[in-house]
Amino acid sequence: MKNVQAYYQTFQEEMGWDKVDPQDFQSSKEFLLYIHMLLTTEVAEVAEEFRTILYRTKDLTETGMDQNAAFIQAKQEVRESLGKELADCLAYLCKLANYFDYDLEDELRSKLEEIRGKYKK
Ligand SMILES: [Mg+2]
Repeated sequence: MKNVQAYYQTFQEEMGWDKVDPQDFQSSKEFLLYIHMLLTTEVAEVAEEFRTILYRTKDLTETGMDQNAAFIQAKQEVRESLGKELADCLAYLCKLANYFDYDLEDELRSKLEEIRGKYKK
């Protein structure tokens, strides 16, 4: 994950995007609102892909196809586009993590251990 965050940071710098000073309130405020808007849009696009899977499964099932086979085919049909939407989400999460100087891998490990402790497993 560290490599992913670093890769994204390099990409962002190469593109000349979002040179935000984390110490500056006004530019940070605009940045955070903008990235929040973009991230939530991408999450909605993931949901649209799920909707496509469900509708496509229904359509295929109505032609007589077995429901599970239809579901597998529907998932395959959106595989490329769903992957792109998940990548969009990851890009914005990396952008936010880099802005706040988080290591997402450390945060994920910490969160999973917290959950493990909560469920005592
Ligand atoms: Mg997208």
